[in-house]
Amino acid sequence: MLNGRQLTISEAYKLLKTKQVSSVELTQAALDRIEKIDLQVKAIVTVTGELALEQAKKADEMIASGNINPLTGIPAMIKDVICTKGIKTTCSSKMLENFIPPYNATVMEKLNGIGAVMLGKANMDEFAMGSSTENSAFFTTHNPWDLSRVPGGSSGGSAAAVAAGEAIYSLGSDTGGSIRQPASFCSVTGFKPTYGRVSRYGLIAFASSLDQIGPFTQDVNDAALVLNAISGYDTRDSTSVDIPVPDYTKCLTGNIKGMRIGVPKEYFVEGMQKVVVDAIKASIAKLEELGAIIDWNVTLPHTPYALAVYYIIAPSEASANLARYDGVKYGYSYQDTDNMWEAMEKTREFGFGPEVKRRIMLGTYALSAGYYDAYYLKAQKVRTLIRNEFDEVFEKYDALVTPTSPTVPFKIGEKTQDPIQMYLSDVCTIPVNIAGLPAISIPAGFAEGLPIGMQVIGRPFDEATVLKVAHAYQQVTDWHKKRAEL
Ligand code: GLN
Repeated sequence: MLNGRQLTISEAYKLLKTKQVSSVELTQAALDRIEKIDLQVKAIVTVTGELALEQAKKADEMIASGNINPLTGIPAMIKDVICTKGIKTTCSSKMLENFIPPYNATVMEKLNGIGAVMLGKANMDEFAMGSSTENSAFFTTHNPWDLSRVPGGSSGGSAAAVAAGEAIYSLGSDTGGSIRQPASFCSVTGFKPTYGRVSRYGLIAFASSLDQIGPFTQDVNDAALVLNAISGYDTRDSTSVDIPVPDYTKCLTGNIKGMRIGVPKEYFVEGMQKVVVDAIKASIAKLEELGAIIDWNVTLPHTPYALAVYYIIAPSEASANLARYDGVKYGYSYQDTDNMWEAMEKTREFGFGPEVKRRIMLGTYALSAGYYDAYYLKAQKVRTLIRNEFDEVFEKYDALVTPTSPTVPFKIGEKTQDPIQMYLSDVCTIPVNIAGLPAISIPAGFAEGLPIGMQVIGRPFDEATVLKVAHAYQQVTDWHKKRAEL
């Protein structure tokens, strides 16, 4: 936010490069904006103002010496699930309320290396479990478009921060939709890369076979810039893949003539709001106008099982990952007893919130000797079917287009009593994580002032095509330029 206008990364870069503005000025403007509106939006758990200004000063020195990258000196917000050395990383959980990581996530090392500026750590659903950011142990983030509604989740703070002009871009994580669904709810661009494209080192684990870090930005061009900076093989993450990272800005030609785009009918689920269906159909028609060849009758028949598969696999992995919080190694530790078992039990009883406990119980149950074959093994088999089905469809189509979320943002409190309703928020995004594919959500319309998002899904490691389609759409639409008034 500079003089009341929110800059994109590429606009800010131009101003920095031509010395019309300094990183210190940009950063101070963002901090002022945070001070002014975060009491309403509540996107941020920890503001790191002093550090941000220090980093901005260093960035200005880099720029003065001619050493400038598109992200140098640009202020960003980081989801509080990504480890930041010396800075509290809470996962919005009591368990990690006072946890200060002794190391940086790889994405942070990469950003620091090019002189990026971190404004603070963004609120989220506890341990990234949720679709509304209401599961934060600290407070609920509000949707900048309507403060009585949720920003989506789990990366709700990261999405709201960009939508509210508190940061120029942000990082989130996506296990089943946690970047794309809040991007849709807050009318920003949110990208989940292919599983293995971005290092997960230092990303606090929820479900390791599904988690991926990705950016929230104001447009697709900016998403390409952040992706350029954070992607790539990392020896510290054995699941990151050692293949070259293209320059993602190169594919943004605006030309999608002759491209084959499929619309899988299973994604227009029962109960989906009509305003969402209408907006997405109109958006797909726009792609057709641009010369893409649309097939409205693509079928991915195993799609309806994806949600069930996810709610076996993700909790199973979570139950294993969260076993590390025992009050001994790090994090919250119950002290009021001499009995080790009681200490461990009470640590978890008081340290974890209800949704996290629900997931741990689901996961331990699905993995127990008596039920492993019936649930976990079966879910893994269906996961393979879902992945194969995508592979087959991608032999015929370059990209798939779907709604991101079945609804516009819902009211705070509307779904907290009904976990299944909450889980249904991610029906359109979860299959993508099951298959490890890249996908983006971009603004695609409004219904009574509430944002609607469109999802574009691509082949594994073909981020470029996803970006190309989404970028072409943004060349002929203005949804992404609209800003919430606060
Ligand atoms: N809403 C889904 C869940 O609660 C996805 C969360 C995520 O992507 N981190 O598990």
